[in-house]
Amino acid sequence: MLIVMDSKATPEDIEHVCEVIVRLGYEARPIPGGQRTAIGLVGNDGSVDPGRFVGLPGVRDAIQVSAPYKLVSREWKQENTLIRLPNGALIGDGNVCMMGGPCSVESEAQIEESAKVVAAAGGTVLRGGAFKPRTSPYAFQGLGEEGLRHMRAAADRHGLAMVTEAIDLDSAAMVARYADVIQIGARNMQNFTLLNAVGRLDKPVLLKRGMAATIKEWLLAAEYVLRGGNEQVILCERGIRSFDDSTRNVMDIAAIAVAKARSHLPVIADPSHGTGRRNQVRALAMAAVAAGADGLIIEMHPRPEEALSDGAQSLYPDQFHSMVEDVARIADAVGVKLSTTG
Ligand code: PEP
Ligand code: MN
Repeated sequence: MLIVMDSKATPEDIEHVCEVIVRLGYEARPIPGGQRTAIGLVGNDGSVDPGRFVGLPGVRDAIQVSAPYKLVSREWKQENTLIRLPNGALIGDGNVCMMGGPCSVESEAQIEESAKVVAAAGGTVLRGGAFKPRTSPYAFQGLGEEGLRHMRAAADRHGLAMVTEAIDLDSAAMVARYADVIQIGARNMQNFTLLNAVGRLDKPVLLKRGMAATIKEWLLAAEYVLRGGNEQVILCERGIRSFDDSTRNVMDIAAIAVAKARSHLPVIADPSHGTGRRNQVRALAMAAVAAGADGLIIEMHPRPEEALSDGAQSLYPDQFHSMVEDVARIADAVGVKLSTTG
């Protein structure tokens, strides 16, 4: 950390900051400049809060030089983290893992039809929510354990792995009994109690980026899970809030490249929530793969007009098929493949 002093800071102010650094157990290294002095705090392990310095007499700013996360960083681990699901699907090996399915599990028949489409199109992971974090308390909240049961059976019948969301500690324990991957949704990205809980589980975690989270905050959320002992985290960019309401969210394609550069964890993209409109999903799915995404998670419904959630962004089955073909062409162009379970 670098503590930048005001140009009017007195020698006593500088001395005081150095004393605070030493009292915290670190080394203080003043760097006098033409206009002002900066003081290096040497030996920071990420636990020093810049707020300890901002507000002290003569201090203009305290700047974190190193990333505040460790276990998720490429500096800590250079090689890509590889996640292997029970059906043989690999995430993080450089290829593109295709995940698809409805926003919500609505019935045994609906999730069965969905699983059939995903498998036939070459997908390897079935998505679908049984616990739905809805903006309105009057909106469909999900089928709960019944939905998990139907989804597990449908996934198994079609050789798919299964990813579904947990929204609290109780649902996390239940989801862990059925699913192959536990999804933590955008609204819960900073639910630290939930992150600690899934950090203690031996199941991969798909961590969505919060809708107003910086990349640093997203990686710090992943750090909670790794710190708990669970190193199997998949990061998922799903769009962020912005001033423009032309799309539901702003799909941050750059975040895919940034997260992959900063972290060894696999990064996938969710262009369904990223755009909110089915006619934009294909373009953003292709863009995400071109940007280096390790996978895609796409909402698809057998009859989107009947969907109990997110129908407007859910692809029709034939659109899902053709999107997979288009994505395969982009994958080929950038020297990767769509992953298979074989
Ligand atoms: C979902 O995957 O259906 C979902 C609720 O996603 P997000 O948390 O990204 O909004
Ligand atoms: Mn959804």
